[in-house]
Amino acid sequence: MNANRDTEQHLPTGCGAIRKLLIANRGEIAVRVMRTARAMGISTVAVYSDADANALHVREADEAVRLGPASARESYLDVDKVIAAARLSGADAVHPGYGFLSENATFVQALHAAGIIFVGPPESAIAAMGDKSAAKARMQAASVPLVPGYHGDNQEDGLLKSEADRMGYPVLIKACAGGGGKGMRVVENTVDFQAALESCRRESRAAFGDDRMLIEKYLTQPRHVEVQVFCDAYGSGVYLFERDCSVQRRHQKVLEEAPAPGLTSALRREMGEAAVRAAREIGYVGAGTIEFLLDAPDAGSEQHGAFYFMEMNTRLQVEHPVTEMITGEDLVEWQLRIARGEPLPRQQDELRLEGHSFEARLYAEDPDNDFLPATGLLERFRLDLAGAGLDASQVRLDSGVAEGDEVSMHYDPMLAKLITFGPTREQALEVLLRALAALEVRGVTTNRAFLTRLAAHEDFRTARLDTRFIERHHASLF
Ligand code: ADP
Repeated sequence: MNANRDTEQHLPTGCGAIRKLLIANRGEIAVRVMRTARAMGISTVAVYSDADANALHVREADEAVRLGPASARESYLDVDKVIAAARLSGADAVHPGYGFLSENATFVQALHAAGIIFVGPPESAIAAMGDKSAAKARMQAASVPLVPGYHGDNQEDGLLKSEADRMGYPVLIKACAGGGGKGMRVVENTVDFQAALESCRRESRAAFGDDRMLIEKYLTQPRHVEVQVFCDAYGSGVYLFERDCSVQRRHQKVLEEAPAPGLTSALRREMGEAAVRAAREIGYVGAGTIEFLLDAPDAGSEQHGAFYFMEMNTRLQVEHPVTEMITGEDLVEWQLRIARGEPLPRQQDELRLEGHSFEARLYAEDPDNDFLPATGLLERFRLDLAGAGLDASQVRLDSGVAEGDEVSMHYDPMLAKLITFGPTREQALEVLLRALAALEVRGVTTNRAFLTRLAAHEDFRTARLDTRFIERHHASLF
């Protein structure tokens, strides 16, 4: 034990041996993190609210600690309760998953004060990216291209409006503290600006307790292309290629894929290197994602359009599995190895991109009723791969629920993610369509049929993608 302590003393701050891991999350991501922890011989601790006492992530863990009542504020979002659970269970590390406390600098600080490892970046990196304005200023310093716009401290209404007038409409007003598409509005012309600004400020005050705004030129047909990066505690960074997440509904991703179709290897490298530069600029450690907007090329041009930094997510992303499929790497294993002080598992030139992968997010919601969240008893939930002529090398189902579970209204309605692989995009898409057909869900309304219509759409098949895909094809999708 003393020998162990000695080696640990030479590790960078926030790193150390991990024997027991608490997963401060629920649903599919908690289950997914546990799978890798188990494979690495690390024992797992689940946390749960009263609504989740019998949830799949609790059943899968070696032990479990109750946090509190169903409301997220009193359970999964309560810093003190999660820290107390980590102490009580004797966990030496906490994996935050995504959402909840994953990008909360105060939480990271409290863990460090308690001598517990946070499987994620240093608190300073979270803080640097938590504010969209400050993040843009940092990225400018690292020569990462930005969407033209205004991200200054002067927040007078009149000034923001004259900036918008100067850059020309349409513009996008965005909450500096924003996330999840909240506090964001497109403004088509100068007369609508003031009212839109006021409504963004109100929404942002309510959601984030902050009403500072930034203004960006609104790109009318961009693609959302994001780069997966990893940095270790010794200053090295690599990119694990990109994902295209252009198919969104209300700025929320629905279908994702890797690699981004049609990207040249030169552009892939350019974006990858910009992403690593961005991460290193803020002293990043661990898994992170740099989100870019890729503008449409000029009409008739053979060239791709420009790419612009949008934001960095300082955590594992929902859609990380498509990256795992095309690289053959386990991103949670990378996170855990880096958190215990190991250098990056691979160098850039050792990383290979092979094949194509899709992810479809299965939600308990009703697309025919304005996507209202659905609840109920999951009477049936099966994926008959063999019956569909598929196998486990082609399809992965990351699920937070199992047949017989109750789906409540307390949390995010995402039930599971269907991830597929094929040697080519066409083949991976064919697998996706067959897997969606082979997925049997009864008892709870889901978006399965909607996902099928999306994936089967001619413009999706031919990769004519941009962030307004769903909006544009509304008539044929509903
Ligand atoms: P949030 O943090 O709330 O998710 P983001 O800044 O990541 O907000 O933007 C979410 C989505 O909004 C993007 O994926 C993209 O579809 C759209 N978007 C953001 N900025 C722009 C822009 N300048 N022009 C066009 N679309 C944008």
